[in-house]
Amino acid sequence: MGARAEQRESAVQSAARLDAEGVGNVALTWVDNAGISRVKTVPTRRLADAVARGVGMSPVFDVFTSADGITASDHLGGPDGDLRLFPDLDRLTILAAQPGWAWAPADRYDQLGRPHPACQRLFARRMAERAAAAGLELRMGFETEWVVARAPQGPADAGELDYPTTAPAYGMARVVALSDYLRDVTEALTVQGVEVLQLHPEYAPGQFEVSTAPADPVRAADDVVLVRETIRAVSARHGLRASFAPSVVAGEVGNGCHLHLGLYRDGTSLHRAADTDWSLAPDAVAFLAGVLDALPALLAIGCPSPASYLRLQPSHWAGIYQCWGVENREAALRLVIGAPDDPDGGHAEVKPFDAAANPYLAVGAVIAAGLHGIDTTARLPAPQTGDPGVLGVRERARRGIVRLPATLTEAADRLEKSAPLREALGEVLHGAVLAVRRAEEAHYAAYEPAEIAAATRWCW
Ligand code: GLU
Ligand code: MG
Repeated sequence: MGARAEQRESAVQSAARLDAEGVGNVALTWVDNAGISRVKTVPTRRLADAVARGVGMSPVFDVFTSADGITASDHLGGPDGDLRLFPDLDRLTILAAQPGWAWAPADRYDQLGRPHPACQRLFARRMAERAAAAGLELRMGFETEWVVARAPQGPADAGELDYPTTAPAYGMARVVALSDYLRDVTEALTVQGVEVLQLHPEYAPGQFEVSTAPADPVRAADDVVLVRETIRAVSARHGLRASFAPSVVAGEVGNGCHLHLGLYRDGTSLHRAADTDWSLAPDAVAFLAGVLDALPALLAIGCPSPASYLRLQPSHWAGIYQCWGVENREAALRLVIGAPDDPDGGHAEVKPFDAAANPYLAVGAVIAAGLHGIDTTARLPAPQTGDPGVLGVRERARRGIVRLPATLTEAADRLEKSAPLREALGEVLHGAVLAVRRAEEAHYAAYEPAEIAAATRWCW
C-alpha cells in the first residue's frame, strides 16, 4: 500500500472517531505569507478523500496581502494553476470552543503530488530536518499576547475599544473580572492537547498572554495557530473579540509573539547551567550569533506588516536593538538561563516577532539563520545590560548596538539581500514573501499610524 493509501486508511478511522463525537466538519488551515490563517473546510465524511487526494486551493494565495489584496511575484500570482491541501492527521484536533468542528493544519503539494516550493509548513519541516542532519534538536514555543474587547454591536471596528476590564496591568483584578473567560481559554487549550505553561494579564489595556510548552519547530508553529483560533473562538462565545495585531492602538504597548528556542544535542541542552554559573556550548553560541546577525533580515519574516513597526518602539519591551543580553527584556535576543535542575535547560527568546508573522516561516528562517551561524562559526558580541533605548546615540555606537529596521521596506531590503535566507527559503518562497512585503508597504503608505492600527486590528 502506498503512503497516501495508508494515510487514507487511518483517516477512515479518524473520521469514524470524529463522527462518534458528533464532529461533522474539519477545518484545514494553512498560513499565508501575510500571516493570515486561510482555510478550506470539508465534511468529516470527506476527510479520507482529503487525506488521499488533497483539497484544491489556488497558489494565488501565496501573494495575498493582509488586506486581501493580490500582488504577484516572478513565480506566483494570477488565476492559473492549482494546489492540493493535505491535512496532517497527526494534528487532527477536535475544537473545544467550536462544537461540531475539528481542525488540522495542511501541507501544500501540486497536482502531481510534488511539494509546493512555497509551502511554508514544508519549509519549516525542511529546516528542522536540516538541523537534525547537523545533530541539533530544537524545541520552540511562541508566547501569544492578545487584547480583548467587547465585540462591537455596530460598525465600530475601528473606533474606541470597549475593554471588558480596566483593571491594572498584571493585576489579579483582571483575572477576577474575566475569570470565566480565561478559564474557558485554558480548558479549551488543555482538552485540545496544548499544554499551557502560564496565563497572565499583560501591560496594555485589555491585554493578556498565554505561553505553551515547547515542542519541535513544526509543532510549535501549529500550536500557535491553534492557540490563536481557540482564543478567537472562546472570545466569540463570551461576546468578546480578540486582537492579536502588533499594534492594537497606535502608541500603546503592542502584542508580541516572541519565539523561544532551546538547543539540544543528543538529548542534552546546549544552554548549560551549573550551581554557580551558566555557559553556552560553542554550537549554541554560533547558532545564536547567526540569529543575531540575521535579525535585520529576519524582521521581514517575524515583523511582516507596516503595523509591526508601530509596535517596534524603544522601551516597549519589543527588543528593537540588535543586541543580546542575559534576561534583558530590551535586547532583541534574550538569553534565559535555566535553573541547574531544569531538565529543559535554558533557552533564548527572539523578542521582536509578532503574531502577523507566519509562524512556519518564523521557525524555519530562525533555524536557517542559526545553522548559517554554525557553518560560519559566528561569534556573539558582548552581552548588553539595561535598556539600550535610554542610552545616548554615542553610547550605543560605542557599544556597537544598532537599531533593527524601523520600517518594513528596510527589513524587506535586508531579506532581499540575505543570501542564506534566500537559499533556505528557495527562490519561489523568497520571491513571494518579498512581493507581499512590498505590497503591504504600498497599500498602507498613505495611512497615518492610527489608521494603520485601526485597519489591521482584526487581521490576524
Ligand atoms: N507586549 C510586549 C511586546 O510587544 C512584550 C511584553 C513581554 O515582555 O512579555 O512584545
Ligand atoms: Mg508578554
